[in-house]
Amino acid sequence: MRALMKVAKGPGNIEVRDIDIPKIPEENWVLIKVKAAGVCGTDLHIWHDQFPYWPPVVMGHEFSGEIVEVGSRVKEFIPGDRVVAEPHSLACGVCELCRQGKIQICAYKRSPGWGINGAFTDYIVLPSMLLHKIPEGLSYELAALAEPMAIAVHQVVERGRIECQDFVVVTGAGTIGIMAALTAKAMGAAKVAITGISACKYIRFDVAKELGADYVINVEKEDAVDAVLELTRGRGADIVIETSGAGSAIAQSVDMVRKCGRISAIGICSKEMISFPWNKAAFKVLDIIFNMSSSYTSWDRALSLIANTDKNIEKMITHKVSIDEWEKVFNELQDEKGIKALFLPE
Ligand SMILES: [Zn+2]
Ligand SMILES: [Zn+2]
Repeated sequence: MRALMKVAKGPGNIEVRDIDIPKIPEENWVLIKVKAAGVCGTDLHIWHDQFPYWPPVVMGHEFSGEIVEVGSRVKEFIPGDRVVAEPHSLACGVCELCRQGKIQICAYKRSPGWGINGAFTDYIVLPSMLLHKIPEGLSYELAALAEPMAIAVHQVVERGRIECQDFVVVTGAGTIGIMAALTAKAMGAAKVAITGISACKYIRFDVAKELGADYVINVEKEDAVDAVLELTRGRGADIVIETSGAGSAIAQSVDMVRKCGRISAIGICSKEMISFPWNKAAFKVLDIIFNMSSSYTSWDRALSLIANTDKNIEKMITHKVSIDEWEKVFNELQDEKGIKALFLPE
């Protein structure tokens, strides 16, 4: 089978290679035929050598597929089941975090796409404990959005504790930002404002508005803090969902949020150190919440949200291509001229 691989350490070093169809390595693993696989910001970081990875490795961790073979000890799934999978492979299962159900931050976790072979190919093997069944009637293409949607649900609902009537600001209008806006609205938020740069006018702002954002704020054209304070009559937002990873947005979120408000952060910053208005956050008695990846519970919630929303989530999928077009697609996503790209098998 043909596979899009990171073949060696360093920037670039991505190739389409021919590899064997994998064999089930352990009796509680399954073999899955990939039906759709999404390109994530993480894949772009791996492209540029800005994220840990173990080459040569097949890229891609966001996917949907059909089980074609199960190991001898797999009881909950059978061939023919339509599934998506949490990317928390090789989590040890015995450390303190794993035993608390937080396998997504286990030190031994090695996800498909960077730690073990991923989904930008025809077949993938994974432990059955990571699988979730796709709700009936939901397409493989929309189900492939489950991983980023689970991240948004974990950040906004489970950790950010969004409430009806909240005024929500989402900083950053990428996949996670737009999904966070949609999630907040689905949970009853009164209004959602989303920020982004000028390039978001190509498509991201339009889709954000269609899927849940009431206001878009172009941070290159207006002062985001002033805009939020004007929209909230000086009170500030109840919660800021930080998805941009931009130092300026992180610092500004303290000014955007009301006293005793919350900041829920998922964005990873490109700099190791940034300046942050610590005292201002202290005087405002803010709750600041960090997030990493997705929880077990966020996956079924995300699938339910994708299956039941009346919004046209299909609008997020801006590219449906084969892996041969990877370079063009990666470049367009990097320039923020797309949102979610799917690789589909030939
Ligand atoms: Zn992802
Ligand atoms: Zn562990």
